[in-house]
Amino acid sequence: EVIDHGGGKITSLSAKLHKSLNRKAIIDRKLLTAIDHKNLQVYYQPQVDLTSGKVHLYEALVRWEDEELGQVMPDELIPIAEENGLIHKIGLFVLEEAAKVAVRLNENDNLISIAVNSSVREFSNRNLSADIISILRKTGCDAKLLELEIQENFAFQAEQESSILQQMNELGEHGVEFTLDDFGTGFASLRYMQTLPITKIKIDKVFIQSILTHPKTQQLVAGMIQFGKSMGLYVVAEGVETEDQLNLLKTMGVDAVQGYYIGVPITADSISHSTYTI
Ligand code: C2E
Ligand code: MG
Ligand code: MG
Ligand code: MG
Repeated sequence: EVIDHGGGKITSLSAKLHKSLNRKAIIDRKLLTAIDHKNLQVYYQPQVDLTSGKVHLYEALVRWEDEELGQVMPDELIPIAEENGLIHKIGLFVLEEAAKVAVRLNENDNLISIAVNSSVREFSNRNLSADIISILRKTGCDAKLLELEIQENFAFQAEQESSILQQMNELGEHGVEFTLDDFGTGFASLRYMQTLPITKIKIDKVFIQSILTHPKTQQLVAGMIQFGKSMGLYVVAEGVETEDQLNLLKTMGVDAVQGYYIGVPITADSISHSTYTI
């Protein structure tokens, strides 16, 4: 009986592993066609600037709805795309979709920006900055409306490879802004804040989610806000899920908030029907 039990466990474990490897293989195999047929979706999550109390930005978040795979979320999709190189195509696709949305949102001079997440792998394309600028031209999107969200591993890499910094600077000269996303979770080397053209930080949601329950977390967030302010950066808190978290963050002096409490990611078509005030 003991042997059976153990054997059963092993079988179900390897069945699980097999299933996940199989899913990865299917994603790998179908992704190129999905991108080429524009079957990926881009969702947009609002960010509210606390000074104006209004949405001043939407963050583009990619998703893939496949009949066989169901919903494929970025945490599953992006690592595979980074591995097989399709991240380049995904990046340009999301950027073009987002740029079109930005143009539509600003028809009445609303000054609503669009943020697009970028993997450092995308910058191994030495023409990326030129590609981005030509998409902005093609869609008629003002470069000032575009923000690129990078993570700390990106910043780390950008310090090692001059071609990345060059491209960042070129984009920066056109008016594109850079946000350091998931702030506080990465390499924690703050040196690159001196060298890279970063104007905003986004405090990671893991901190926001325990800000009310862990006194030390609250102190940590206070320190991050203070750091951001002293560097002249615009400080965003992501992952705000409750009114109490929002109120606390307001008193702590963050510049902007994002999270399910303010608004979940929605399709481009739903944006015009949504109103948010804080
Ligand atoms: P991120 O840029 O830090 O985006 C925030 C993630 O948290 C999103 O997950 C968003 O849906 C989710 N989120 C927003 N508000 C809340 C909240 O209040 N509570 C909780 N628990 N979650 C919240 P998503 O869409 O699954 O994206 C995951 C990550 O995948 C993103 O993290 C980003 O790093 C990456 N990503 C998404 N789209 C793209 C893309 O087009 N290109 C690249 N390179 N990466 C992308
Ligand atoms: Mg982001
Ligand atoms: Mg984040
Ligand atoms: Mg993240």
